[in-house]
Amino acid sequence: MKTIEKIAYIGVDLGGTNLRTALVNHAGKILESRAAQTRVDQGAESVSKTLLALCRALVRSAAKLGLKVAAIGLGAAGKIDRSTGSVVFSPNLPVLDGYPLGRELGQNLEIPVCMENDANVFGLGEGWAGTARGVRNWVGIVLGTGVGGCLFLNGKLWEGDGLGFSAEIGHMIVEPGGPVCPCGSKGCLEAFASARALVSGAKKALCGQSVKEGPLHALDRVGKLSAHTIYACAKRGDPAALALFDKMGWALGICLANIFSVLGIRLAVIGGGVSSAWDLFISPLEKTLAQNSSMLDPGAAVILRSRLGNDAALIGAARLSRKRTQVSR
Ligand SMILES: [Zn+2]
Repeated sequence: MKTIEKIAYIGVDLGGTNLRTALVNHAGKILESRAAQTRVDQGAESVSKTLLALCRALVRSAAKLGLKVAAIGLGAAGKIDRSTGSVVFSPNLPVLDGYPLGRELGQNLEIPVCMENDANVFGLGEGWAGTARGVRNWVGIVLGTGVGGCLFLNGKLWEGDGLGFSAEIGHMIVEPGGPVCPCGSKGCLEAFASARALVSGAKKALCGQSVKEGPLHALDRVGKLSAHTIYACAKRGDPAALALFDKMGWALGICLANIFSVLGIRLAVIGGGVSSAWDLFISPLEKTLAQNSSMLDPGAAVILRSRLGNDAALIGAARLSRKRTQVSR
C-alpha cells in the first residue's frame, strides 16, 4: 500500500494566454512546474496535445522522485461540466467550448482528471496553503483579464446547485445600465475591475474627450494601452489613469458590501494579476465598503491580498484533484 508521502498531484491552470502545470506534493508544495503558450489560434486539439505533453513530462519527473501521480486537477475560466470533463462556455477560451479536454487527458494518461472553474481553484489553493488557510468563511476575488469569484462557507467551497457556476462575483451588477460586460450584461463588476475594463475605460475616456491630452493619449496612438501601462501612468500621477483605479476600488467596495451583508461574513482575499495594483484601489475600496456597510461594524471587514500569487491556481487544482479522488475512493 502506498503511503501518502509517495503520492503527488498535477495542478493545471488553463489561461487564455498561458497553459501552466505543476507537480504538487501531498502537503501543497510545488515540486516542479512547466508552462507553454495556450495556442488557441491552432484549435482545441492543439491545446489538448500541448497539455498532454506537459503532464506527461511531470508524470516522468514524479517517477524519478519515487512518486506516483494520483490525480490531475484542471482549472479553467468559464462554465465547467464536471461530469464530462469539458468546458461548456469560456469567454476567454471560446475555442474550447464543448471540447472534452479533461476526459481526453484522463484517457491518454490513465489518471483521473477533474475540472473546476479557475476562480474556485484559486480559492482552494489559498485555503490549503495561502492567505485563507484556517479561515472558515470567506470570499475570494480574482482580478485578471476578467474577474472571477469563489465562496467558502463553513470551510467548504460553495458549489451552488451544481449548475456549473457559483460565486460569479465578476457578474454582480454594480451599476445598472453601465459599461457592457463580455457576459452580455451591463455594469457588472468585471466591467470596472478587470484588465480588459482598464483598457476599455481608458479608451472610452479618450473618445469621450473627457481626457484632452496626456500619457494615455500617447499610449493609445502607438497601440500600447494595457493594464500595465495604465498602471504605470497612474503611479506617475496621471489623473485619468488614477480615476480608472478609483472606479475599480469603488466597484469592488460595492460588491463586498453586498456580499458581506447578505452572507454575514467579513473576510475577502483578492488575487489575480491586476491585484498588483493593490496600492491604487485599496483605499477607494475600503472607503466605499465602509460607506455602504450598514450591518457590519466599521473596521470589522478584513480585506487581504493573495499570498500565493500565480501559484494559487496550480496548488488549488492539485488540491481539487486530491479532494475529488479521496471522495471517490
Ligand atoms: Zn458580466
